[in-house]
Amino acid sequence: MDINFLIPKLNNMKWKVLACVLISSMTHVSAQKKYDPKETEIYSPVPRLVTAGKQYGQAPSDAIQLLTGTKLSEWEADKAMGGPAGWIFEKGIMTVNKKAGDIRTKRKFTNFQLHLEYRIPKHITGTGQARGNSGLFLASLEVEEGAGGYEIQILDNYQNSTYVNGQAASIYKQYPPLVNACKPPGEWQTYDVVWKAPRFRNDGTLESPATITAFHNGVLVQDHAILKGDTPYTGPPVYRPHGAAPIKLQAHGDKSEPISFKNIWIREL
Ligand code: MG
Repeated sequence: MDINFLIPKLNNMKWKVLACVLISSMTHVSAQKKYDPKETEIYSPVPRLVTAGKQYGQAPSDAIQLLTGTKLSEWEADKAMGGPAGWIFEKGIMTVNKKAGDIRTKRKFTNFQLHLEYRIPKHITGTGQARGNSGLFLASLEVEEGAGGYEIQILDNYQNSTYVNGQAASIYKQYPPLVNACKPPGEWQTYDVVWKAPRFRNDGTLESPATITAFHNGVLVQDHAILKGDTPYTGPPVYRPHGAAPIKLQAHGDKSEPISFKNIWIREL
């Protein structure tokens, strides 16, 4: 806007600036739309009713329980042919059987909220990565070597140090947890995870990366972490195209005493 044209008699620069501010603010006010509060209110669709659990960690009404009944009916061996999950299951508590190897859910999932509780044995032995090592794989993928997929580490790091991007609640070899919220061995601990799977285009290229938000014992440990790919033991993370996939729990080959799980439930998003 040409101020000199609008206010030709104001030669002093200060007055010109003031006039400019006044004119522009008047223009702004006149251009502002008058809103009705109702214009920004949304009434449908109404969020469906879900009954929350009475205590922290208790499954809400729309969750799928993954440890229920007397058998590991929701789980199978993480082998090409599947087969029964060979872990021990008694009174709602599942304990790792290292000889039986990793287990995976029979169902496949894409995006979800998951709750899991685990307990490191009270008299756990070992150090570093060899102390109560397991892992929660948000999607189990077939790879030639090792445990394929995207792992949130399970490990006893109460008073046990290791590489920080491999300690409990880390996204393995990608993101250390924001804090160490580990409880002492012998106590039940919780993970609450929001997993958004990566999306791939028809040609197999990555459309959007996976993200993880996670709480360890109720404490935020991963804040919408954007994954760089899968979480291999060796080498950099890589994205390989995949669709819905099982969730996997790791039977790590370390010599320490096996850990236990209970109250695992999932809500698909
Ligand atoms: Mg592990």
